[in-house]
Amino acid sequence: MPTQLERARDGEVTPEMERVADREQRDPEFVREQVAAGRAVIPHNREHDGLDPMVIGEAFATKVNANIGNSADTSAPEEELEKLHAAVHYGADTVMDLSTGTDLDRIREANVAHSPVPVGTVPIYEAVKRAGSAADLTHDLLRDVIEKQAEQGVDYMTIHAGVLMEHLPLTDGRTTGIVSRGGSILARWMEEHGEQNPLYVDFPGLCETFREYDVTVSLGDGLRPGSLADASDEAQFAELDTLGELTGLARDRGVQVMVEGPGHVPMDEIRDNVDRQREVCDGAPFYVLGPLVTDVAPGYDHITSAIGATEAARAGAAMLCYVTPKEHLGLPEREDVRDGMAAYRIAAHAADVANGLPGARDWDDALSEARYAFDWRRQFDLALDPERAQSFHDRTLPGDNYKEARFCSMCGVEFCSMRIDQDAREAGDGMADFADGTDLNASVAAEVNRPPVGTHDTDDLPTWPPETFDGDRRTSPEEADD
Ligand code: SF4
Repeated sequence: MPTQLERARDGEVTPEMERVADREQRDPEFVREQVAAGRAVIPHNREHDGLDPMVIGEAFATKVNANIGNSADTSAPEEELEKLHAAVHYGADTVMDLSTGTDLDRIREANVAHSPVPVGTVPIYEAVKRAGSAADLTHDLLRDVIEKQAEQGVDYMTIHAGVLMEHLPLTDGRTTGIVSRGGSILARWMEEHGEQNPLYVDFPGLCETFREYDVTVSLGDGLRPGSLADASDEAQFAELDTLGELTGLARDRGVQVMVEGPGHVPMDEIRDNVDRQREVCDGAPFYVLGPLVTDVAPGYDHITSAIGATEAARAGAAMLCYVTPKEHLGLPEREDVRDGMAAYRIAAHAADVANGLPGARDWDDALSEARYAFDWRRQFDLALDPERAQSFHDRTLPGDNYKEARFCSMCGVEFCSMRIDQDAREAGDGMADFADGTDLNASVAAEVNRPPVGTHDTDDLPTWPPETFDGDRRTSPEEADD
């Protein structure tokens, strides 16, 4: 069966395009044109039942990905579905399962089965687990893992096919070397074997698998800078040129493709990075990690990176990979997911407002009107994170009687500037009418930008364990991956 890309090229508006058009308040034909041109992708593996289709592209609302997954040292399997639940609840448009610990197959299957949003993976992680070490990877193993994950319903896969042997010397002298997990694994393999990147060599064949299941390939940036000192260097841009070549190869084979980007980039270089990717990769959707605009704030990198993400989205990046406060420090937990998602939904929405996305500003206007009207309940409902907004308010003014109060504890009743302003307007006769007219339901705001918190209905997401889980049994990595 043809992919979304092939069907779009044939002039067909698919049900997925119709759904996406509805969510984005766009003409279905416009969606088709964007997909046909490769400027947008609809990640939707044919095997992923229950997925609510979404689109990633510069012309549409900026999307946010949340990484979840376990590692060898932390996080039990039962926590993974909780993380999926938290990520979707707090508004993730896609999730990437980056598990590298135990139970990889069962976690991935559970995530795909229960996720209403596209699920992405980095197959080389599982391949390394099965091989035992980076050096023991083989072409066949990589292909087998990718095929199996495609069969399992993974919607998009990060493939670091653009890291070439010729690029590796360009990383000499870097401050932080190769920081991408996939990039470092492949660099090690190439040095050990003296051979070209197997994902690059086998890319045309892998595209057959991607096409069969309509897996969107996300071309990973294995040489992305891990520090401001390494940003925009020769290694990064040499790899980008290869990603441009691979973008064309994938499209020629009917495969949907997006391209991943840096990393750590000073604020003043972000726009140039986005422009360069757009040109080299012929407008393929740009999926950026942050970027972090400073290296000095471990513990706050959801903030350092959300600043860069806003600038990137403003310049045209289509999807932002969230960063949590634990970046560089440890595996994120549920509250980290919440903080990271909030930071990135703010970044995405701020860029959409600035870029004039149809209806994006209506959300802001509605909340401001509720705020000026001292309608606290509506203000909480409209907040990006309603639970947090209400809990902060209620810490000092918990009573129901304060839900219409014309002040809060920040300035206090006597110094509440909005109350003073309204009183002055009333006294001035004719100044008492304030705006109270934004109707979000009638707005053309994209569904992806509409409150309440969370884009998707999470009622059906079960908590771990699912019925099939034997809670007393813990499988070894070898068993789990068989
Ligand atoms: S007290 Fe201050 S912060 Fe609170 S509603 Fe009034 S102006 Fe706003």
